[in-house]
Amino acid sequence: MAVLPIRIWGDPILKKRAVSIDRITHAERRLIEDMIETMEAADGAGLAAPQVGVAKRIFVFRRGDDIHALINPKIIARSAEQKIGAEGCLSIPGVQAKVSRAARVTVTGRDVHNKAVSFECEDSEALGRAGTCVQHELDHLDGVLYLERAEPDSVSWLIEGEDEAGEETVFLEPTTPQEVLAAIKSKLLPPDLHAPEMLQRRVQGKR
Ligand SMILES: [Zn+2]
Repeated sequence: MAVLPIRIWGDPILKKRAVSIDRITHAERRLIEDMIETMEAADGAGLAAPQVGVAKRIFVFRRGDDIHALINPKIIARSAEQKIGAEGCLSIPGVQAKVSRAARVTVTGRDVHNKAVSFECEDSEALGRAGTCVQHELDHLDGVLYLERAEPDSVSWLIEGEDEAGEETVFLEPTTPQEVLAAIKSKLLPPDLHAPEMLQRRVQGKR
């Protein structure tokens, strides 16, 4: 198993529609193992194959205490009820924005053993952010990034600092998708950004 380099916003593979998988082979199983290891190393809630440079319809995600992999995933039902929640993305480190998503979805696909599987997903104490996560990851397979769906004026940098009592905290510093992309392209992220070191190094163009 290996931690794979995560592709950062601006990389063209993140805008591509990923292709379906006809046959699950050793290559896909190996990729999924590596994706899980990479997601855990970056402390993510989900990871889609294009984020590690593979334009195939596969994502991994957390649902409660479990981690699942889905091949050729499809959302077959979504609630009429929408919920607005804060999201982040490993490909856009140190940024958060609010996105409106279906409150509950049913996602189907194949597991690594080519068995048909189905999951009910919502954000809850028991399931964590599973509802948001599967919608966010499925978007990745269609070349859509969450900042394209962000509520107006909801995009922020996450900046580490201290509150009045001297406790470590994370501040939201308003920004825009354009500013974020410009910062990434110039390899100049804000100081004290709240993001895993391995992702900040990726922005700098290092592995
Ligand atoms: Zn993402």
